[in-house]
Amino acid sequence: MTGLMHGKRGLIMGLANDKSLAWGIAKKLHEQGAELAFAYQGEALAKRVRPLAESLGSDFLIDCDVSNMDAIDAAFDTIRERWDTIDFVVHAIGFSDKNELRGKYVDTSLDNFLMTMNISAYSLVAVTKRAMAMMPNGGSILTLTYYGAEKVVPHYNVMGVAKAALEASVKYLANDLGPQNIRVNAISAGPIKTLAASGIGDFRYILKWNELNSPLRRNTTIEDVGGSGLYFLSDLSSGVTGETHHVDSGYHLVGMKQEDAPDI
Ligand code: NAD
Repeated sequence: MTGLMHGKRGLIMGLANDKSLAWGIAKKLHEQGAELAFAYQGEALAKRVRPLAESLGSDFLIDCDVSNMDAIDAAFDTIRERWDTIDFVVHAIGFSDKNELRGKYVDTSLDNFLMTMNISAYSLVAVTKRAMAMMPNGGSILTLTYYGAEKVVPHYNVMGVAKAALEASVKYLANDLGPQNIRVNAISAGPIKTLAASGIGDFRYILKWNELNSPLRRNTTIEDVGGSGLYFLSDLSSGVTGETHHVDSGYHLVGMKQEDAPDI
């Protein structure tokens, strides 16, 4: 099947490098004919993001720190200068102090709690509010979450709490924007080795555990996430909103260690 995204254009937020979940999604969207703009955080990332964007036929790069509301306004002003409307947004952004992504959740500081919530959860609300104004014909907004929102995953700590808020936000936003035919969904991805994930304590153990204990007996890839992302951002999922969809090799349904899993 080709051309699913033909005539559609949108914004990818959270591309850091070719390991990013955003990259897996962007590649699939491009393959299906989407026109893409990329928002990245800070000039240091620009040199990584530019060649990746160019390889997908895009020269549309926007510097945007989502903890700064003026920067989000400016980013959407920049988009509006080139495009009257957009069809989709990918929100693939999360951040917390890595010193608090280990040890106990009870030790989370107020400052980091607020920062993590702001960047990892509130930013979806802030972005959605600006994006909806550019979606007069409807649209699709997709964010990325993790199982640590539903169950306790050691070290995930405050990020799990922020992801729980993000998943609840997806439902409230989906209900608010439904009458305008704007859909809001989340992909709950299995653990994948990325820059953000490297900040999580003992991440290699989490990866190995998921590989050995998920029904598919393998880890999730950014291509897996990209395929499901394409579904949510295209008309294939036209009747779906407010959903948190697991793309995790089935790990979320397992209640115990698999009999064939060796000790690690
Ligand atoms: P990544 O490091 O490639 O991407 C994280 C992105 O967030 C980076 O591009 C970074 O620049 C951006 N970011 C952080 N703070 C920002 C800010 N203030 N303003 C703008 N951008 C900011 O890592 P990733 O794993 O691809 O993360 C993307 C999303 O996927 C995150 O929400 C993450 O929690 C989620 N996720 C990741 C995994 C995993 O195992 N890697 C699993 C499930 C969900």
